[in-house]
Amino acid sequence: MIPSFTNPNNISIITGRPPAVHGIAGNYFFDPATGEEVMMNDARFMRAPTIMKAFHDSGASVAVVTAKDKLRTLLGYGLDPSSGRAVAFSSEKADKATRAENGIEDVLAFVGMPLPDVYSAELSEFVLAAGVKLLRERRPDLMYLSTTDYIQHKAAPGSDIANRFYAMLDRYAGELDAAGCVLALTADHGMNDKHLPNGEPDVIYLQELFDAWLGAGKARVILPITDPYVVHHGALGSFATVYLPSEADRGAMLARLRDLAGIDAALDREEACARYELPPDRVGDLVVVSGRHKVLGTAAARHDLSGLTEPLRSHGGLTEQAVPMILNRKVSIPPGRQLRNFDVFDVALNRIQP
Ligand SMILES: [Zn+2]
Repeated sequence: MIPSFTNPNNISIITGRPPAVHGIAGNYFFDPATGEEVMMNDARFMRAPTIMKAFHDSGASVAVVTAKDKLRTLLGYGLDPSSGRAVAFSSEKADKATRAENGIEDVLAFVGMPLPDVYSAELSEFVLAAGVKLLRERRPDLMYLSTTDYIQHKAAPGSDIANRFYAMLDRYAGELDAAGCVLALTADHGMNDKHLPNGEPDVIYLQELFDAWLGAGKARVILPITDPYVVHHGALGSFATVYLPSEADRGAMLARLRDLAGIDAALDREEACARYELPPDRVGDLVVVSGRHKVLGTAAARHDLSGLTEPLRSHGGLTEQAVPMILNRKVSIPPGRQLRNFDVFDVALNRIQP
């Protein structure tokens, strides 16, 4: 899904539908109803039920484990832990899990790992270790394990840190396979270098441009990558949406954006929502997507880049849309069908060769 960010893609995967249906179009958005910019991590923003809930409501046992707690409430939406058949917790807050809220307690002892740091490889490893443990001891009918991309932001493919991380993933994939499940692996998005040769992030600061074009503060630039974990990316990604004052000429603004170097797409709301399957009421008047090595910011002064100790790697655009899908079984896909990452449950549940 575009934007190639965490929340839109994870929620597409767990509902099997695009953001136009489930409503989660970013990690962060401008809520026209309240006039406020808010995190899109509350279940009240969900417009579709999850596949997990459908299984749970049909009597199956389900488990959801996420790295960051910001996703847990969305992925666990509609599950009732009091049934004894639903577990949903994050590694970030594993020490705070309770039977009433998460369907499980004493998670640290259960998994056999200490609470990981929120900025660590172990935050993802904890998810997979928990998955292996849940599979061996509780054997849920359906389980969703969602890791985080901290390492991928910080370490390029082929580096020692990246190789260690993928060796760890591979080890757990082996353990899950050995435990006898149908295992399907996919990604929410890709990742690219987004910096200049000198290591500085390669940024187009859109709010500064619109302030120059229309007057200070007339337009509102929203970066849906925004979340509390600025060490990953400093809120710099390759997708932005812009709210314009009513008198602004959308066509003229789009023409100016398309003239900038490093812009892959500049579209009005209607075209962007049709092309990327987004909910029009949660998208601004314009949508801007930057290229493989370029990111979009608001204004330089509004980005905390102190956590960017490595040259920026980030995502959000078309160049981070293609992801792998890997299964431990042979599958049959109808000829001509283009698979999306959010088809992964359909593939794992319905497309395995007998
Ligand atoms: Zn990320």
